[in-house]
Amino acid sequence: MRRVVCPGSFDPVTNGHVDIIRRAAQLHDEVHVVVGANRAKHGMFTVDERVAMLKEVTSDLPNVIVGTFRGLLVEYCRAHGVSAIVKGLRAVSDFEYEMEMAQMNYRLAEIETLFLTANPLYSFLRSSLVREIAIYGGNVASLVPPTVQAQLRTKLAGAGDG
Ligand code: ADP
Repeated sequence: MRRVVCPGSFDPVTNGHVDIIRRAAQLHDEVHVVVGANRAKHGMFTVDERVAMLKEVTSDLPNVIVGTFRGLLVEYCRAHGVSAIVKGLRAVSDFEYEMEMAQMNYRLAEIETLFLTANPLYSFLRSSLVREIAIYGGNVASLVPPTVQAQLRTKLAGAGDG
């Protein structure tokens, strides 16, 4: 069983994430998409909201499981029989950090990290930019799945009320 994990903050999930998750699901038997809960308090969406959106946008992929992790990712991997971490690489700017993490995770638990190069359509895309565009009323229709667009609208309408 080739079981891998796609970790992230997914605040919120974007088309770039979905692209990586789909490709990982084609290459492996089982993909665990996990939301890191360590620093989630400072985000726009709660961990539960992020998980719900991820479940919805991956509902057509039977070998994708959505969950969360707290603490070290390698501990999640050990506990769930995951042998590798799959990450998307957008640009050189991602490289230094990702290489450091990959080498540390290998050192900690001999967990491999596999990199998929970003789809050029989405190589400029990150969740923080999506949040910023949405906050200032920009159109994010081509950047996130429709359900995420709707959730952003709801969240920001709610924020306006308070
Ligand atoms: P973000 O940087 O968007 O806040 P995360 O921390 O949730 O994203 O990232 C989780 C994983 O998804 C990381 O491996 C990251 O490189 C990858 N990823 C994020 N956005 C994209 C994208 N547009 N294309 C490819 N991979 C991406």
